[in-house]
Amino acid sequence: MESNNHIGTIYKVAGPLIVASGMRDVHIHDVVRVSESRLIGEIIELRDDMASIQVYEDTSGIGPGEPVYMTGEQLSAELAPGLIEGIFDGIQRPLTEICKLQGDRISRGADVPKLDRSKKWSFVPVAKPGDSVVAGDILGTVEETPAVTQKIMVPYGVSGTVEWVFNGEATITDTIAKVKDAKGKTRELCMLQKWSVRRRRPYAFKMNPIQPMVTGVRTVDTLFPITKGGIACVPGPFGSGKTVIQHSIAKWADADIIIYIGCGERGNEMTDVLKEFPELHDPKTGLTLMKRTVLIANTSDMPVAAREASIYTGITIAEYFRDMGYKVAIIADSTSRWAEALREMSGRLEEMPGEEGYPAYLSTRLAEFYERAGNVVCLGSDKREGAVTAIGAVSPAGGDTSEPVSQATLRIVKVYWGLSAELAYQRHFPAIDWLKSYSLYDKKITGYFDETLDPEWSLRVAEVRRILQEESELNEIVRLVGFDALSEKDRLTFECARIVREDFLQQDSYREIDRYTPPKKQTEMLGAILMWYSKGQKALKDGASYKDVMDGNILSEIAKMKYEPDENWNEFYASLTGLIAGRFSDLKGESEE
Ligand code: ADP
Repeated sequence: MESNNHIGTIYKVAGPLIVASGMRDVHIHDVVRVSESRLIGEIIELRDDMASIQVYEDTSGIGPGEPVYMTGEQLSAELAPGLIEGIFDGIQRPLTEICKLQGDRISRGADVPKLDRSKKWSFVPVAKPGDSVVAGDILGTVEETPAVTQKIMVPYGVSGTVEWVFNGEATITDTIAKVKDAKGKTRELCMLQKWSVRRRRPYAFKMNPIQPMVTGVRTVDTLFPITKGGIACVPGPFGSGKTVIQHSIAKWADADIIIYIGCGERGNEMTDVLKEFPELHDPKTGLTLMKRTVLIANTSDMPVAAREASIYTGITIAEYFRDMGYKVAIIADSTSRWAEALREMSGRLEEMPGEEGYPAYLSTRLAEFYERAGNVVCLGSDKREGAVTAIGAVSPAGGDTSEPVSQATLRIVKVYWGLSAELAYQRHFPAIDWLKSYSLYDKKITGYFDETLDPEWSLRVAEVRRILQEESELNEIVRLVGFDALSEKDRLTFECARIVREDFLQQDSYREIDRYTPPKKQTEMLGAILMWYSKGQKALKDGASYKDVMDGNILSEIAKMKYEPDENWNEFYASLTGLIAGRFSDLKGESEE
């Protein structure tokens, strides 16, 4: 509990930063309450007895001489049932609850618990008296929503023999188990755990991520795939589709739990998320997407310091679900707005500014966030595996990725989905620039798909890349001397690249039939396009004319592929490949005559 001892006195107020004197016996990251308004703040710098406090609430009207109280706690996330479906601010204050109590604007110093203390959850024991347990072992489960069952784990630092386990309805602070430790001391455990958001939660060990996190977005899964436990960024100028792609990942990606951090974006964008998510049908569970989602909202009109904390709060919650063995996807929109909060605080601290005013530790802080993603063997005797996949949007002004936040992010992440204003302008969506984007997981994932889905996968992906690359080279020639100057072989490559772009890469997130493509359909779509292309090239070689190769209704059938419903797909695919084979055997007949 908060001890609330008066320890210091405000010396100076600079917006969200307060400097206080007389701050002895405190630590970095301790939470303090500032002034009689009891604003929530965190100590971010200590020099002798002077502390710089980052205040998570509006400091207007607060002045020197007012008291600072210590709470004896670090800035922590509360971890227990009640997280899922929650909408929190950057320091995990429950916005829905606060709204109910106080209306639209959060009053300062509001003392609302992060998680509901009165709600009863049905706790089903897993451990039995006499079991010996270590940190991470599962004491029992709580069905939090029909889509998520929380595993209530032995907290870090506790081990011993189970003396007693509860069975039935309990609040998160009721005792649900008693464990006798090696010294013979009995520890009473409840469901609620607190964890400092600035520290990563422990795991047994980290593994190389190898399994794809399928997104159903064709450009992503085939050309720039991400693994479960991987890290990716989506940089792009305004209007290039960052939000749409993140939402589509939240809705469709192969992840059990979604943590969505709306970080410094405009209020109306966050309102879209808040409205849309609870209404969204979740194809996995048949319920709404909120039944497996935690939202963290710190819009541009909310205090800037809480925005700085929001990504750490988010990733701590993500790690907690990972520890249960879940595959979690955390989406931060946008890390640029987060970095601006960091810059503002650094400016107030009068630190030496680095590039474009960002502090020199910008990259370290970004790395600290992304490094908490990964694929791990969790603590606990059952060696379960969990993963946190982190995806950050970067929104550089004017789309110029040479600026410091984009550059620092690029040095850390393994997947880069670079959105292009030009493609968005041409309404080529998702506007992921295939010539600039990359995925360092590419080899692992193509290998995985070769083994588990289709031995042709990596060959097809490589061929498509080659064709797109060749198109960009041919484009130069076409620009200089015109399309007619190309050889028939090159013209066919050019045409094939157009088909790949329009009929495969372009994908409409708003069309139900097109927004998600399972990997099997993705490889078959590529298979059909490449079958047409290789047979076409062969026919040209055998003497057929370009016009002959282009004749027939094959291309219009190929263009229909993405709109073919799953239930008809197998039949459609068989008929399409049959059509291609038949057409070219006819052509052969013609050219042989
Ligand atoms: P940003 O977040 O980068 O500013 P948005 O994600 O809001 O951009 O996208 C801007 C607009 O582009 C959307 O409102 C939509 O009309 C269009 N758009 C982006 N991606 C897609 C997509 N995959 N399918 C269809 N339309 C898209």
